[in-house]
Amino acid sequence: MENVQLFDAGDKGHGLRATKELSAGDMVFSEPGFAAVVYDSMAAKVCHNCFRRQSKLHRCAQCRFAYYCDRTCQTACWEEHKLECAAIRKIVTAPNANVRLAARVMWRIHKDTGLGTDNQLVAVDKLEDHLADLGEEDLKQLKTNVGHFFEYWSYGSKQHSSDYISHIFGIIKGNGLPLTDQRGLQKVGVGLFPNLCLVNHDCWPNCTVILNNGNQSALNSALHSKRRIELRALGKISEGQELTVSYVDFLNLSTDRKKKLKDLHFFDCTCEHCTQQIKDDLMMAAAETDKVKEVTAFSKENVEKIEAAHAQGNFHEVARLCCETLEKQENVLADTNLYKLRVLSMASEALSYLRAYSEAAEYARKMVEGYTKLYHPNNPQLGLAIMKAGVAHWHAGQIEQGHGFICRAYSILMISHGPNHAITRDLESMRAQTEIELKMFKQNENKYHTMRQEVLKDNTHSNRNIINLFKININM
Ligand SMILES: [Zn+2]
Ligand SMILES: [Zn+2]
Ligand SMILES: [Zn+2]
Repeated sequence: MENVQLFDAGDKGHGLRATKELSAGDMVFSEPGFAAVVYDSMAAKVCHNCFRRQSKLHRCAQCRFAYYCDRTCQTACWEEHKLECAAIRKIVTAPNANVRLAARVMWRIHKDTGLGTDNQLVAVDKLEDHLADLGEEDLKQLKTNVGHFFEYWSYGSKQHSSDYISHIFGIIKGNGLPLTDQRGLQKVGVGLFPNLCLVNHDCWPNCTVILNNGNQSALNSALHSKRRIELRALGKISEGQELTVSYVDFLNLSTDRKKKLKDLHFFDCTCEHCTQQIKDDLMMAAAETDKVKEVTAFSKENVEKIEAAHAQGNFHEVARLCCETLEKQENVLADTNLYKLRVLSMASEALSYLRAYSEAAEYARKMVEGYTKLYHPNNPQLGLAIMKAGVAHWHAGQIEQGHGFICRAYSILMISHGPNHAITRDLESMRAQTEIELKMFKQNENKYHTMRQEVLKDNTHSNRNIINLFKININM
């Protein structure tokens, strides 16, 4: 934690500031997390230690609830799982993720005898619980969880008041960070990272937070690394400057971002981008004014329909609705309009899925053009969108554009995710592959296309891996 220092940020409470100058891509700090659990629906699908999605998982023979990649992950997790394992066996069915997380927090508090490690800037139970801000429904849910907690948790004779346990649940609700699988495609669990909780929000932040699932698979155990979050600088940060992350996606109007922040995090955003409504005009921009109202209303309605069709996995319907909406928007809404960008994003995803790669590539390219005008140049969402566009172009056989996008995405992800992240490494293999293909293409176009057909047909292991990489990442 030598790059940061705790300070009093006025109305915002605690804050963290840089103790030295930082540059884009610098890792400000990493934090393994105080406690984390896998979501109920994901319990049998991801490893409870590293949160990686794996097809073959190994089940804990005792509680039959926890799953692991292998013995290495199981051993690494045993200290955390030991008491949980006994508790689950006692009550037969495991309680929900919130209750399991609260119990893990409490076991950890007891184990650490209340003191954090040197690297922890604040004790976990000193974080804000926001109980006073919770609505009736949330409070009811919390009460039920507290009840389940007491049935589940045991630690010798040590008992706690329900007020204290409610306080812990409040902390989890307000500060729990959703955790994704190794490719960042799906939220699979939730964890508590006390140092990260000290980093305040800004809609145009100078840092980003990513999850690194770590690596337990290296043969040499000295090379093993633990699951952790990394706070990474998005640009130059001067000594003494406050560090910020964004709790919401920037691609929302300032009023919508403010509402989200108020509802979920209980504060009024006073960041520069909200107070001055920076880029709101671009996000609502229209090319001509007459038909704007009608097309905006039509778009809003159709975006809901598209999302519903998407949730049902009906990609034909998603594609049909998207094309219909884009046609209406043409020449009416500007390229940075949020409704246009949402439809473009879903259109390229659905068309890739349906293997209509040329159209998918064209829509992805338009989406990237709009995103580039709105997002911070090193925003991780922008990097992932560019990667998607690169993959779509590769699939469409447009190797020059494809390679260009892959290189651009790679340079952003090197900053936002860092060189050791699984997605960055995937991109690195893709970049190597597209570079070779591009060289071949420039030498002899016909030969290139023949080779490509063969690569797609070829079933050797290394080729399959590369093609699977492209496949996996297209369905984000
Ligand atoms: Zn694992
Ligand atoms: Zn177990
Ligand atoms: Zn803001």
